[in-house]
Amino acid sequence: MADLSKYTKELSNLFSTSKNILLISHINPDGDAIGSQLALYHYLSSKGREVSMMTPNNLQEFLKWMNGSDRIEVFIKHRKRCRKLIEEADLIVMLDFNQPDRLGEAEKPVLASKAFKVVIDHHLDPHDFANLLISESSKCSTSELIYNLVKEMNGGEFRNIPYAEALYVGTVTDTGNFEHGNYTGDTLRMVADMIDIGIKKEKILDLIYNNFSASRMRLQGFVLNQRLTVIPEFQTAYLYLTKNDLASYEYIKGDSEGFVNLPLSIKGIIFTALFIEKEGFIKMSFRSKGDFPANKFASRYFSGGGHLNASGGDHHDTLDNTIVYFLKTLKEFYQEFSQ
Ligand code: 5GP
Ligand code: MN
Repeated sequence: MADLSKYTKELSNLFSTSKNILLISHINPDGDAIGSQLALYHYLSSKGREVSMMTPNNLQEFLKWMNGSDRIEVFIKHRKRCRKLIEEADLIVMLDFNQPDRLGEAEKPVLASKAFKVVIDHHLDPHDFANLLISESSKCSTSELIYNLVKEMNGGEFRNIPYAEALYVGTVTDTGNFEHGNYTGDTLRMVADMIDIGIKKEKILDLIYNNFSASRMRLQGFVLNQRLTVIPEFQTAYLYLTKNDLASYEYIKGDSEGFVNLPLSIKGIIFTALFIEKEGFIKMSFRSKGDFPANKFASRYFSGGGHLNASGGDHHDTLDNTIVYFLKTLKEFYQEFSQ
């Protein structure tokens, strides 16, 4: 395991000397963004620290049950309040991302702030925008990294149910409920600790995975039936959803979560993409199997990034043009990969 002691001394020091600590996770926060943020929040609060939390935009429905989530300020909902939080902070901890554009509209004020800035993250290729970078791409989730850091700072296990629940959510969601190969024996030992602390894992899984509307289920049927293209030549399958499609199925934030994984279950497919038409641009999600580098594809062609097997990006063009561009870049990338 990576030696984290070089970070924990400095972190402990920062946490005990800073007056206003602000924890920020990334735009479109997923379970690991909110899980790692809330876990750190519960730990620091228990030590009597003054902690605020912020996300660039709204939380998805399936995370709103989490203890402490109602204390997370949303930048695009309360800009004035959030700007004030950023200005007043003397320590800003950014969780589960490593590129400043993942702060969305909060990027400018955060970068301009005089606060000491820490990044705690597990993605590849971190950008240089923090005073202290804690980047461990060997961890399956930022939540697992928080668990390790807290254990060291606390001088042993921090036994607290909301903390353990938050770490469990982050780990379950970032490993696709332990389907992706990026977790280790250490991850499962951590989960064993969470279970010993007393989390109700079935209840949590139910809140995460069985929390959708009927129209979301129908949207899933539609996207697989009507919007799936398989390209065996490049071992790739892609899905897309237009603005109209989303409107006809009463789409709410989070409804398309997981769709991009589905075509990976087709025999021979190692790379999948999902295109979602937004206002003026297309949001892309990529998934891959084995050593096909979805993150490289996203960063090279779609101003994005992420993990080897799960990444995302965007493209400022029409959906039709984006698909044409995708097919062209896929061909180039696949040929390079298979050499
Ligand atoms: P998802 O497809 O679930 O939105 O994202 C999968 C992974 O890709 C996540 O780890 C996320 O952090 C990363 N990701 C998604 N969109 C972007 C993006 O626009 N830029 C970067 N750098 N990473 C992204
Ligand atoms: Mn993560």
